[in-house]
Amino acid sequence: MNIVVCIKQVPDVPSIHMDRERMTVIREGVESVINPLDYVALQAALNLRAQEGGSVTALTMGPPQSEAALREALAFGADKAVLLSDPLFAGADTLATSHVLARALSIMTPQADVVLCGMQTIDSDTGHVGPQIAEELDMPQVCGVTEIHVEKETLLVKRLNDGIIDTLRVMLPALLTVRSGLAVVGNLALGSLERAFSEADLVRWGSKELALNEDEVGLRGSATKVWALRPPPPRQNGEIVTGSPQELVRRLIRKLETLSIVDEDDGDSG
Ligand SMILES: Cc1cc2nc3c(=O)[nH]c(=O)nc-3n(C[C@H](O)[C@H](O)[C@H](O)COP(=O)(O)OP(=O)(O)OC[C@H]3O[C@@H](n4cnc5c(N)ncnc54)[C@H](O)[C@@H]3O)c2cc1C
Repeated sequence: MNIVVCIKQVPDVPSIHMDRERMTVIREGVESVINPLDYVALQAALNLRAQEGGSVTALTMGPPQSEAALREALAFGADKAVLLSDPLFAGADTLATSHVLARALSIMTPQADVVLCGMQTIDSDTGHVGPQIAEELDMPQVCGVTEIHVEKETLLVKRLNDGIIDTLRVMLPALLTVRSGLAVVGNLALGSLERAFSEADLVRWGSKELALNEDEVGLRGSATKVWALRPPPPRQNGEIVTGSPQELVRRLIRKLETLSIVDEDDGDSG
């Protein structure tokens, strides 16, 4: 079974600060880490390989420094890593990101039987990328997976959806986005540390290798534009009212009327 794990390098959230004047995230000096759910996806892929054989490939699109995330994935036990990096990819929204990842998946040999993604990231947090890759490749997809069992040419998966656990059978190739309960992330594999530094196991592809033109990638290939960026207004302080239950109800209704949440007439009909 050939498994590709999509990995995103994200800023380490506790060390993120906003530039309040420019309304941007200050990235300088911020340590980058693998998105936490992508560790879970990687561990799940390693578990599947241990059970079924095959290979695990880590795939990322990002600036050159995201190579560090792939090297870490190799150290964890991935067989191969693919870095998709090109100045043309800068400014990509989720659609343009998914397009590049989907193109890479479509030209990989051997082709992936299973593509694993995190359900969402800790920085942009849209949860778009996995489903958009699956749509572009016309693959079945299941989001929020908490268990995977291989059964002949299919997967039997459980997903948590609105507090309900669904069990679904999915044909291969398929894309799954994973939740934290799927696997317990282990430690670095000592035997793989050396591979993490080998050049042979890391492939670099840019727009040329992927046969993508500048109108379909990066800012130009993005369907969304950031119009404004500002922190949400600070939360108003709450008001604590005291008094008898009758008094509290009267004051609450008066307050709701002042805020035009209920009409003065509303009380008459009841
Ligand atoms: C107009 C616009 C411009 C933007 N410009 C930039 C920019 O210049 N620089 C920048 O860093 N971001 C930029 N972004 C944000 C960027 O689009 C997102 O970071 C990216 O698409 C991933 O979205 P997400 O973090 O919400 O992923 P989600 O959909 O929440 O991620 C789910 C899973 O998909 C996979 N995944 C997500 N991203 C990648 C990836 N890159 N490689 C491999 N797997 C991945 C992972 O498995 C991840 O767990 C921009 C966004 C917009 C709307």
